[in-house]
Amino acid sequence: GLTKAQILQWLSNCAQYFNENKEYLTELDREIGDADHGLNMQRGFAGVMAKLPTVADKDIGSILKTTGMTLLSQVGGASGPLFGTFFIKGAQSVAGKESLSFREVFQMLKDGVDGIVTRGRAEIGDKTMCDVWIPTIASLEIAGCSDTSASLAQALTTAVQRAEECLAGTIPMKAKKGRASYLNERSIGHQDPGATSAVYILRALLDSVE
Ligand code: ADP
Ligand code: MG
Ligand code: MG
Repeated sequence: GLTKAQILQWLSNCAQYFNENKEYLTELDREIGDADHGLNMQRGFAGVMAKLPTVADKDIGSILKTTGMTLLSQVGGASGPLFGTFFIKGAQSVAGKESLSFREVFQMLKDGVDGIVTRGRAEIGDKTMCDVWIPTIASLEIAGCSDTSASLAQALTTAVQRAEECLAGTIPMKAKKGRASYLNERSIGHQDPGATSAVYILRALLDSVE
């Protein structure tokens, strides 16, 4: 399972990934977007880190909801509302909790991803963050169902590997959603920035468990 301290660690790991990879994400977005994705995510999680001390003694649901609201208000563009929704929807089933079981972690991630899909309406193959989120959550579900004794760390390790494969899979895709879709065929051959950020969020979670 996951403790509240590990949830806080997850968020601070996210902030660190986005600090360290701001330029890289911006370069990816320069190829098929407007070169702001790295800055968007870095600013968003810097905002989250500034806000966390005010909610750190509250339950996990409140912490995740505050995270989502902060991303929603501080990250512009397409990705802010989507990553914001991920944390806000993820927060709902874990309201009031001080620690999470494997199942609760899975449910939180699943609800978050369902929220992204409902809001962004992207499908697999559209070259968005959903190309990482959807298959990865499905693989976590399989891990959780087929082996109840599987540790969260093991399941997340597998999920991160799957996420990285899916990320590479966005390169040959033609974008059908978001700004990159304006490029049509010219979006082919580039890795999707938002999908890259989804991998960082998953890696940050794994890092907090290990
Ligand atoms: P903007 O494109 O508004 O500048 P960002 O650069 O921050 O916003 O984010 C771009 C990322 O948002 C894309 O790489 C893609 O992964 C994601 N994205 C865009 N539209 C959608 C959508 N409808 N559903 C899911 N993800 C999307
Ligand atoms: Mg952009
Ligand atoms: Mg933009």
